[in-house]
Amino acid sequence: MIKPIYLQTYKSGQLQNRVDKAWDLLKKCTLCPRNCRINRLNNEQGFCKTGKLPIISSHGPHFGEEAPLVGRGGSGTIFFSYCNLSCVFCQNWATSHLGEGKEYSIDKKYYALFG
Ligand code: SF4
Repeated sequence: MIKPIYLQTYKSGQLQNRVDKAWDLLKKCTLCPRNCRINRLNNEQGFCKTGKLPIISSHGPHFGEEAPLVGRGGSGTIFFSYCNLSCVFCQNWATSHLGEGKEYSIDKKYYALFG
């Protein structure tokens, strides 16, 4: 059975290093080429209108891709609200432009699921 690579990165500690680096980038946000340089950890908002916590419009199994990608159980999908691209023809306008969704907390207990 093929194991997802994130299980190896979790067990080696690399995943935590990457998480720490990503949090650090939020202090003067340069996560994307917009380079807003605002402090998202203080809930300041740049072009993408996202502060410290993620806003999510939906999540769950997704069956909208080709069969080899979704299998019988679907691929896991998380639709984050807002977007840094702002395409005028976006098919997910309510989510990407209007920010439809709700803010989620980040709970480290989920890390335990990786064992
Ligand atoms: S658009 Fe959002 S993710 Fe990109 S740099 Fe600005 S605040 Fe950061």
